Amino acid sequence: MTHTFAIVGYGTQGVYHWKNLQQIDGAEVKGIYDIDPRANDDAEADGLHVYESFQEILDDSAVDFVFICTPNDSHHDYAVEAMKAGKDVLCEKPAMMTSAEMEDVDEVSRETGKLFMVHQNRRWDPDYQVIKKICDEELIGPATYLEQRIHGSRGIPGDWRQLPEQGGGMILDWGVHTVDRLLMMVDSPVVDVYGVRSFVAGHDVDDGFQAYFRFANGFRALVDVSTNAYITLPKFYLQSATGCAIIEDWEMNGRIIRHTGAEEDDATPIQAGVGLTKTMAPRIMDYAKMASTTPPVEELPLPEVDSDVMDFYRNALAAAEGREEPAITNASVIRCLKILEAVIRSDETREVVHPEQA
Ligand code: NAD
Repeated sequence: MTHTFAIVGYGTQGVYHWKNLQQIDGAEVKGIYDIDPRANDDAEADGLHVYESFQEILDDSAVDFVFICTPNDSHHDYAVEAMKAGKDVLCEKPAMMTSAEMEDVDEVSRETGKLFMVHQNRRWDPDYQVIKKICDEELIGPATYLEQRIHGSRGIPGDWRQLPEQGGGMILDWGVHTVDRLLMMVDSPVVDVYGVRSFVAGHDVDDGFQAYFRFANGFRALVDVSTNAYITLPKFYLQSATGCAIIEDWEMNGRIIRHTGAEEDDATPIQAGVGLTKTMAPRIMDYAKMASTTPPVEELPLPEVDSDVMDFYRNALAAAEGREEPAITNASVIRCLKILEAVIRSDETREVVHPEQA
């Protein structure tokens, strides 16, 4: 069975999906709709049909899938109209501008029986998959605290991403990825959120944010997104009572340090700065110097993961045919948007917000 796609918005992501869909068995892209003549020229050069209007896509019975790749403010109406016209829909993130819009789209998906699935591709990122594996398999024992960071220093690109009315800003950009991934990792309600947005670049949208989360099961997390970090901090840092894991960068530099359970000599105070400290004395990694024969801590490489983002497209086709459940559920997307709204509310009120009940 072949599914025929039309792509709405042939910019960075539209072109990206056109290329990826060519590698998927059972998928073909017929054409695109874009309001920019330059994008239409690009599509024609790529051998694609250029639709004159979105309505023309809706009227084309050969098209059964619409992929929405436009700026964020247009996702809702395109999605609703496409599903009502009998098309399955894939949509770029952020799915919608608000959780209310997403609830509306989810309702239309149920009413029409059409698929609506969001491209939460960052769930397939190797760094996230590795940190999730360490957490799931308790490779450092039960995890208690996570720091997740996305740091860059180029500010927000000078396009619609700087405009609030089009859904610009980092909460709706990397916030949607980082908080989505956090919620996928921790199976517990978010009881406390404290968020602070940054506007240091002088735009009307946030150029970054930090948010602390406390889950009902006691897990704590920091999400830190910055577009003015000239020195970047590690992307993932996971703690437990008996170990730590770190992923430094996109190149997957990182390691695990964990306690072996072996007996250990009491720490000797060290000279630290101008004073002495016993509490913060580092672990002795040179075991030859130690009385015990079994080292109390060991260093391990990061585990391997097998992750293929092309599974997103394969799953979409299977979900439309009813062969698989959608990999990205609408419920998870609604929940993520609600937690992000709690971050914004916390920033505006300067108070801790309690989005979910224990
Ligand atoms: P872009 O500016 O490169 O492309 C957007 C295209 O949409 C442009 O060609 C523009 O002319 C067209 N367009 C604008 N308004 C339109 C409308 N009303 N109808 C039809 N066409 C319209 O933007 P982009 O980087 O491709 O981002 C598009 C979407 O993808 C956004 O929602 C963004 O958040 C998302 N995105 C996702 C990822 C990811 O990794 N999942 C990465 C980047 C962007």
